[in-house]
Amino acid sequence: MKCFIASLFLFFIGVQGLVSQSEGCITDQNDTFFKRLESNLKRSNETVEKGFVTRFVPINFFIVEDTDGSNSMDDTKIINDLCKLNERYLEADILFYIDDITYINNTNLNHRPRLTTSVNLMRQMRNNKAMNIFLVTEILQNNGTPSGAAGYYSGGNNDFVVMLKNQLGNESFTIEHEIGHFFSLAHPHVGWEGDISQGSTNGGYHPMTHGDTVRIQIITGSTQAGSVEVELVDRSNCTTAADRICDTPPDYGFGQSCGCCTMVYDVWDRNGDKIEPMIDNVMSYSNGCDPFLFSAEQIITMQSDFDSPSRAYLRTGEVAEFNPISSSVNIISPVNDQIFENFNGVLLEWEPIAEAEEYRVFISVSQQLEFTTTDNELYLTNLQPNKFYFVDVFAINKFGTGCHPITRRLFQTGSGSTSVNETSSINEINVFPNPVYKGQDLTVNYNSQGNFSSTVKLISINGQLVWNKQTQIIRGENKMIISSNGLNTGLYFLELHTTEGVIIEKIIIE
Ligand SMILES: [Zn+2]
Repeated sequence: MKCFIASLFLFFIGVQGLVSQSEGCITDQNDTFFKRLESNLKRSNETVEKGFVTRFVPINFFIVEDTDGSNSMDDTKIINDLCKLNERYLEADILFYIDDITYINNTNLNHRPRLTTSVNLMRQMRNNKAMNIFLVTEILQNNGTPSGAAGYYSGGNNDFVVMLKNQLGNESFTIEHEIGHFFSLAHPHVGWEGDISQGSTNGGYHPMTHGDTVRIQIITGSTQAGSVEVELVDRSNCTTAADRICDTPPDYGFGQSCGCCTMVYDVWDRNGDKIEPMIDNVMSYSNGCDPFLFSAEQIITMQSDFDSPSRAYLRTGEVAEFNPISSSVNIISPVNDQIFENFNGVLLEWEPIAEAEEYRVFISVSQQLEFTTTDNELYLTNLQPNKFYFVDVFAINKFGTGCHPITRRLFQTGSGSTSVNETSSINEINVFPNPVYKGQDLTVNYNSQGNFSSTVKLISINGQLVWNKQTQIIRGENKMIISSNGLNTGLYFLELHTTEGVIIEKIIIE
């Protein structure tokens, strides 16, 4: 992951009503679009012969904000939802990873991505070594009315997906649908999308307009395609009609007109054959299917598209194996409901995860803080006294968080105010052996530049004081022996309190 921008935790507030797929797609399935599809279909035998090959697709996500930075989105949403996309494309053996996440400040693009200036900006910003997905707040028409939830911009130097931020990871399979378009799939009901001129209000088949037996041979009036040949059940015209994919049966936009995921009509084609659409097809406009699915030929077509010369730029070879994060993060410190003595010396620690490239840490409730670290610990010096906090930790790599829930702990800060590890008189503190075996003695060495009194404390991971001693620190070398007899195995904090501050060392008893 090249560029995760660490920033203050910005909650994604743009919660709008779930926009269904039927209100959603603005992809133009023009002649150029179909030309690419045809050429992919021609090469489908080659694709099948390759057998099982996992295809890795780099994605550059663009989070579009207003020019003043408002109407943005936390990139955590992308990182968390990538897992769902990969699950849904697993059967197609196509897996996606984050190549980059880029922020763009441009109000026009964030609300009117169909304007020529917006399209030009996306062309300019697009990453030529990845699939490009622009996440925007609204897709408005020039007159200000909403015009869709997502679309694949094909042709010319476009070749990118534009999608509403609230469509990430939803149950409408919006991103999966648009990526289907990106890989040259048309709607199974192509031609029927915007057939409002013929009487249906929602687009798609309407019994009053089209009848129980649909006799028209050409469907026109779609805003997303020109005149399209109506597909027959017997497959006699499946290579030239509708989506040109033969194992997706005729679909006259049935899911779109009912806004549902059930075939609610009894409809026959002009040969008198009854129509049984694949109502739960990812590329349909059906609503509420769980899950939506691709047909076998659709999968082969997408794979062929990935293998095609025009997609050479996606085949970077940068990622050759699928190694998603294998588990949730196990937080060692704090334990739940832990009360820390201090507020400005709080150590967070978790078990490392092998696949992790970095960890995200969110602090919430009393303050909103976000950290990114490659370590499996974080030392917090800027919390407030006597406050409650949640800490959320998750691991990430190119494949996001994996499908694992974020681990959360509650803790409380105390009133102890110290400047931690910043005493000017004591330089380095050496504790050995560390880890120490249970029952063995610990030796603590340090060098002081002055004489003063101090308190040494041993604090358990639960925040319990298990041992303490008043001691006089002398100028020069100091040595102290601490017995671990009677102490349980685990993580402890050795704290050396002086008038100048506190020094803390972690100790592990095995
Ligand atoms: Zn579509």
